[in-house]
Amino acid sequence: MTIALSSSLDLFATTVLDRLDAQSLRRTVTETTPQDAVLVHRNGKELVSFSSNDYLGLAHDSRLKKAAIDAIHTYGTGSGASRLVVGNHPLFEELERKLAELKGTEAAVVVGSGYLANTGIIPTLVGPNDVILMDEYVHACIHAGAHLARSKVITFRHNDTEDLYALLEINRPQHRHALIITDGVFSMDGDIAPISALHALATAYDAWLMTDDAHGVGVLGSNGAGSSHTETPSIPVDLQMGTLSKALGGYGGYLCASQPVIDLILTRCRPFIYSTGLPPAAVASAIEALRIIEEDTELCARPVNNARLFTSLLNLPEAQSPIVPVIIGDTEKTLKIARHLESLGFLVVPIRPPTVPAGTARLRVTFSAQHTKDQIRTLASLIRPFVGRGA
Ligand code: PMP
Repeated sequence: MTIALSSSLDLFATTVLDRLDAQSLRRTVTETTPQDAVLVHRNGKELVSFSSNDYLGLAHDSRLKKAAIDAIHTYGTGSGASRLVVGNHPLFEELERKLAELKGTEAAVVVGSGYLANTGIIPTLVGPNDVILMDEYVHACIHAGAHLARSKVITFRHNDTEDLYALLEINRPQHRHALIITDGVFSMDGDIAPISALHALATAYDAWLMTDDAHGVGVLGSNGAGSSHTETPSIPVDLQMGTLSKALGGYGGYLCASQPVIDLILTRCRPFIYSTGLPPAAVASAIEALRIIEEDTELCARPVNNARLFTSLLNLPEAQSPIVPVIIGDTEKTLKIARHLESLGFLVVPIRPPTVPAGTARLRVTFSAQHTKDQIRTLASLIRPFVGRGA
């Protein structure tokens, strides 16, 4: 079939896509219908998914569904406008109070998504005279937020506090404010940031510390409070950002911080000011998710325990989170293995550059509280031939 190229725009798009195709870097979405927390239908087949970030299976929990439906009946399907324009419905206040309680901060604010949160929080707090020091593997939306801030942006080597120390020594004196940013749990590697050491450096250099705990909340720390709450007492991170879209089974982003910081976000953070408030259903289901997490510590522990069963079966380093990377190296080979696993009934997402560095394409295996031990054992036996053969 020939494609009629109607304009230079289409020609541009086609040329870029052809180039990406040649490098196995073109992305497409595949129709996939979730059946429950771990089973999906794709191409007429039932697959066990090890690809979702719904770590607790709460996206399919009947209690969250009921909370969402009740909220729709009471408050409608949409929020109508920015909360500064139409005002809060009462659920926002309850959700923000519960988030602040979980994270041990004075206050919290929710915004449209985790991505939006990072693009809004960072430029609200730092600007052209400031320096941002962030781990080289932080999530793409932190890069986007840092870019919008127009600060000097420096990346330190992954989880390397010596490198951060050296960079602070050189760069801190020349800047008004310094913001250190890390993922709490790294989304493509599953390892945890050295938050205690980062906090000590932040204190020593009068820098502010921000963690993106998208993959930590609900699965790490006492009561699922996240990556800065695995020790007692918790590490007092200034800015604890996260998302409602993973272990909390819904949608939306948040920041937990001191009252003055949250008040500043309400006044200056552009995604809060200029974007419509979350739909009532999303807010209500998140409240219910937090209630469940508070009560069910056994549920919160299960995703990491399941990941550890997998890593022990394959003699991989012990999982620190529900995310386990199996590094293959070559992109085409990684895609091939993922297709092979799919043909055998398992959905495991292949991750390739630019999401991860060149030469480190990988299977990203994520574990849910709802996976059975049999499902995990079978997947491990299917992946075993490819372990340790990476670049
Ligand atoms: N931070 C990290 C570390 C993430 O993995 C993600 C989602 N992939 C986000 C932020 C963005 O969150 P959301 O999906 O709510 O936009």
